[in-house]
Amino acid sequence: MTRSDQLFDAAKAVIPGGVNSPVRAFKGVGGTPVFFERGQGAHVWDVDGKQYLDYVGSWGPLILGHCDAQVMTAVTEALHHGMSFGTPTAKETDLAETIRQCMPALEKIRFVNSGTEATMTAIRLARGYTNKSKILKFKGCYHGHSDSLLVNAGSGLLTLGIPSSPGILASTAEHTLVADFNNLEETTQLFEKHGDDIAAIIVEPIAGNMGFVLPDAGFLEGLRALCDSSGALLIFDEVMTGFRVALGGAQALYHITPDLTTLGKVIGGGMPVGALGGKAAIMDYLAPEGPVYQAGTLSGNPLAMAAGLATLRAVQAEGFYDALGYQTKALVTGLMDVAATHHIPLQAKSLGGMFGFCFTSNQNIRNQGDVAASDDAMFCAFYHGMLDAGVYLAPSRFEAGFVSSTHRPADIEYTLQAADQVLSSFD
Ligand SMILES: *Cc1c(COP(=O)(O)O)cnc(C)c1O
Repeated sequence: MTRSDQLFDAAKAVIPGGVNSPVRAFKGVGGTPVFFERGQGAHVWDVDGKQYLDYVGSWGPLILGHCDAQVMTAVTEALHHGMSFGTPTAKETDLAETIRQCMPALEKIRFVNSGTEATMTAIRLARGYTNKSKILKFKGCYHGHSDSLLVNAGSGLLTLGIPSSPGILASTAEHTLVADFNNLEETTQLFEKHGDDIAAIIVEPIAGNMGFVLPDAGFLEGLRALCDSSGALLIFDEVMTGFRVALGGAQALYHITPDLTTLGKVIGGGMPVGALGGKAAIMDYLAPEGPVYQAGTLSGNPLAMAAGLATLRAVQAEGFYDALGYQTKALVTGLMDVAATHHIPLQAKSLGGMFGFCFTSNQNIRNQGDVAASDDAMFCAFYHGMLDAGVYLAPSRFEAGFVSSTHRPADIEYTLQAADQVLSSFD
């Protein structure tokens, strides 16, 4: 019995399922979750002393790798000045200004403590601002676990096979319309039927919670046009993609201006942070300026702001995303090459520091159903082979993977050699 096994047993006695977030429990791949105790750069060490190359990075935030020196210095300094005051502090404005420089569509920004809070608030704001009740989301997109968004949501729920969740009232869920990702026709039909009452479309512009799925050409433009013609707001949930696929997020890559954007993960540099931002006229609808209420005791706290600021300073360095994107691309093209030599059908794609792969011969993965149709047994076998070899991937085929600026060419090379070994055992 490993130390991770022992700790997991102990955890299960006091924490439901032994985890504080479901995907961590390894239900998607079987086996015992690995308990980590230390990280440095691209590497992590578990409680049994085994070293891994980390392609999860705390599910996306750690774009600079573990224990980045500048982030540590900034957080340490903030720590010694006081962990929280519950008053405004200068760092909140600094971080808001930094985000706005990189993502000009966020004219005003409100900080919260998680991505879930950001999307929940964005929905309330959209409903309050438009005075309409329905929201439209896409199957397999995950926008946090608030009631109205936990309908056909991705990742943890796909892995667990729960399409929705008990505890959510039918009267809440009935205001959430769902279409397939990349299906503009179905979305248009929903607008034809309910257009007058749709407050917002919320979408992961690049999906990362149903596996990694890129938008088809014209899909995001089509959503923008539907919103413009009906008076609904377009909300880009860039909690995962913000500062991950490019400095300006997916909205910069696809040249679309959403009305509201939600952020999290990278902007907190590993600390719990979320944010929503957008057009000033809409954002000013939030309390205390406007009537839509939202608040948070620890919102914008100095430690989180310091970690976020140090992280966003580093990613603004010239060529940061080119280098990150190059490294990530080398990983996915390498994986496809390795699979091809073993005649194993595998599709892998990347954008910036985000990637995904599936065991399937379908070269055109467009939605959750396409990912679900990929080979689950092969993914699980590959997953555990890689884990044994010291490569830590997300423990579900419905999750994206992340590369940090500390991943070196030698790390990618090591990963591809491990993949070659594991896949050769499938022959
Ligand atoms: C992670 C994520 C969330 C939820 O963020 P939490 O901080 O886990 O609450 C929301 N939307 C997207 C797209 C995410 O990837």
